[in-house]
Amino acid sequence: MPIPAADLLAAARADVDRTVDLRRRLHRTPEIGLHLPRTQATVLEELAGLPVEVATGTTTTSVVGVLRGARPGPTYLLRADLDALPVHEDTGLPFASEVPGAMHACGHDLHTAMLLGAARLLAERRDEIAGQVLLMLQPGEEGFHGARYMLEEGLLDAVPEAPVVGAFALHVFANQPSGVVSVRPGPMMAAADHWEVTVRGRGGHASMPHAAADPVPVAAEIVLALQSMVTRRAPVFDPAVVTVANLVAGSTDNVIPDSAYLQGTIRTLSPERRADVVASVRRVATHVAAAHDMQIDFVHRQGYPVTANDPAVADRVLAIAGELVGPERSVVAAEPLMGAEDFSYVLQRVPGAMAFLGACPPGADPASAAGNHSNLVVFDEGALPAGAALYAAMALDALVA
Ligand SMILES: [Zn+2]
Repeated sequence: MPIPAADLLAAARADVDRTVDLRRRLHRTPEIGLHLPRTQATVLEELAGLPVEVATGTTTTSVVGVLRGARPGPTYLLRADLDALPVHEDTGLPFASEVPGAMHACGHDLHTAMLLGAARLLAERRDEIAGQVLLMLQPGEEGFHGARYMLEEGLLDAVPEAPVVGAFALHVFANQPSGVVSVRPGPMMAAADHWEVTVRGRGGHASMPHAAADPVPVAAEIVLALQSMVTRRAPVFDPAVVTVANLVAGSTDNVIPDSAYLQGTIRTLSPERRADVVASVRRVATHVAAAHDMQIDFVHRQGYPVTANDPAVADRVLAIAGELVGPERSVVAAEPLMGAEDFSYVLQRVPGAMAFLGACPPGADPASAAGNHSNLVVFDEGALPAGAALYAAMALDALVA
């Protein structure tokens, strides 16, 4: 059906004060992790005035809302994340964080405000809807697997008689031009894996390395060997990033330590590459250490899988965003982002897409503006109506015959 794009955007603009007000209230009181009682209470208050059936999580402070259309039909999922980061805000904004050491530095406050704005737009259009809109408001996106907990609690069975046929999420970025929507088919964001290596040596006097087993040069060799491994093993069109982000050994200048510790991240865009690089990090570290008659302990923790967009849904996002914000502001993302996202778990189960929405503040240059996760990041609230309208339009596109 043709989306009433102009109407939706006009309605979202008319409602922008409410969206901005909610965004700022959330911004003042950020919470981190899986348990966000204050944020959850705010979301529940906002939903209370709407024709939405609400359920809350049992293992986390998630919120699930079901908005039923006038006629039966399938269910379409819209997702926003609720959590902040352990960052101390230094923006000086009048609505800056009032919680020391916590900040909505990734824009999840904008996501939540836009999703609730979309819920209001959709509530006004219930008569046109055949099916249900499933509102997914998740804590713990920043590495806590909040989406996975919601799936385990039966998120996709929230409307037992009507399966979830599609899913959509938005992410704002402060260093992309404001109001520009970007999306791509296939990988949108990377898989992220955590690893740790402890090189087991034998301590001793720094003047007599032959009488000890010095793990420091072995750790250094492992760092370099990992980079060689990545460039020689990963095809350039199925890339991988291995970063050693933390390297710790020793305590003073005259002692050889008994161990050295390294930890880092692996980012990949395909399951094959992911499995190969994880195995290769372990193998390279094991055998470099073995060459020096030492052993390692290896730890691997799986992070989020690849966020893979369904190509047909990505096409619909481009077409619908083009109608909303103009074709010149609806673009194919040139490349995936090597960050990771737990909406990936939803996209493993349901065809859907995550799109990016630029929110570079007025007067700033996207190339040099403080980016997401920075203590100085500022997002353009002028992008909020387009985001709210896009959420609503994706649901209407799927549910209006
Ligand atoms: Zn984020």
